[in-house]
Amino acid sequence: MAATQMEQLVSLCKRRGFIFQNSDIYGGLQGVYDYGPLGVELKNNIKAAWWRAMVYERDDVEGLDAAILTNRKVLHYSGHEDTFSDPMVDCRKCKGRFRADQINGVCPNCGSTDLTEPRPFNLMFKTTVGPVVDEDNIAYLRPETAQAIFTQFKNVVDSTSRKLPFGIAQIGKSFRNEITPKNFIFRVREFEQAELEFFVKPGEDEKWHEYWKQARIDWWVAQGLPRDRFRVYDQKPDELAHYAKACSDIEYAFPHGVEELEGIANRRDYDLGNHTKSQEEFNLEAHCHKNPDSTAKLCVRDEENNKWIVPFVIEPSMGIDRAVLAILTEAYNEEDLGGGNSRIVLKLKKHLAPIKIAIVPLKKNSPEIMAKCHELKQSLMKLGIGRVALENTGNIGKAYRRHDEVGTPLCLTVDFETLEQQPETVTLRDRDTMEQIRIATAELPAYLREYFA
Ligand code: ATP
Repeated sequence: MAATQMEQLVSLCKRRGFIFQNSDIYGGLQGVYDYGPLGVELKNNIKAAWWRAMVYERDDVEGLDAAILTNRKVLHYSGHEDTFSDPMVDCRKCKGRFRADQINGVCPNCGSTDLTEPRPFNLMFKTTVGPVVDEDNIAYLRPETAQAIFTQFKNVVDSTSRKLPFGIAQIGKSFRNEITPKNFIFRVREFEQAELEFFVKPGEDEKWHEYWKQARIDWWVAQGLPRDRFRVYDQKPDELAHYAKACSDIEYAFPHGVEELEGIANRRDYDLGNHTKSQEEFNLEAHCHKNPDSTAKLCVRDEENNKWIVPFVIEPSMGIDRAVLAILTEAYNEEDLGGGNSRIVLKLKKHLAPIKIAIVPLKKNSPEIMAKCHELKQSLMKLGIGRVALENTGNIGKAYRRHDEVGTPLCLTVDFETLEQQPETVTLRDRDTMEQIRIATAELPAYLREYFA
């Protein structure tokens, strides 16, 4: 049974060090969160799983890590300066500001219906670069990672000699001045995205859109989201962004409702078409803005007919923070153990668990047991399986509960038998079944390598 209330997750995340409100000691900054000691591990593991599937396990994808600060022209020609906005209304009574499409004509703060007409509100964070604060020095914090993939298209093609179809993958921070950030880390103002832009020959786009839809569904299942807990919604023609030919949303049953986790869009030649120079030389299908500023032709040679073409692009784009939220929601379990006992357990997939194994001393005031724990920690750390934690609470029951709550798959306990008997053995306790086995320490490396493979 997954989490049903956001409060269950918010409370666990703060208590165990996954996620904190940003600037907490000064009252917080709305729509901004910080990832704590365990949150950073979980997030890194999710990013690593995505990178592995998108880059390492494929032969047709390159990576990129572009800057957050973005030249204004990039976001002008991408269309963001003109159109990246939400309709917003102000309440004349309490002065609150809300998204018009979310409030049904009534102020959610004070109940007044005295609202202004909706006005577009651009969601991009503006800044200036250099010591002079004026119009000429405006830059933006990127609102998506994708644009740098398009603007670096030629550099990547020239440096890697890629031929179609191929993709460029990127993970990084994005910023949107959301009018109403809400639902914990679901809608925030600073977040991370993992985006793949997969370039294909026009005409092969529909086939590749289907392919990526399936590949992404399989990836989510491998991260622990059962197929019946998310749905794939194919947007209807009148719901599509003007540049998109098709878009499929992967929607998950979050505690606050069913909402988008990832979008997989067929963006045709809109992005490269907008940023390329000499647009008139290409038979662009999307309606692109005239671009007299670009200095590069963003095209590849079609080897079949020897013509230069602007590829179409398929874009699977997911939010890492929404991935964290979905994965935590799904893993969260409250179990009744009988006899008035219960436990909270995070049934995370092993590869996502922030701590892989916790070493627990039966007694913390036994120097021999502690010395053995330290020795084991040193050797297990070198296996490269991820974070090995040394527990020092002295209360074995509490240590197990704590590690159940943070999803640690295995607890290794050092007791007096470990010290007294040959061959030397320890117990391994499984998080989900709570069953314990005794295993020789000499066998641990091989056992753990296989367990976490
Ligand atoms: P929404 O409709 O929920 O605002 P969107 O359609 O604008 O999202 P995209 O521009 O397609 O989102 O961005 C791709 C992904 O980035 C989304 O599927 C989501 O996972 C993530 N994302 C977008 N905006 C936010 C945000 N404010 N906070 C957290 N994640 C976000």
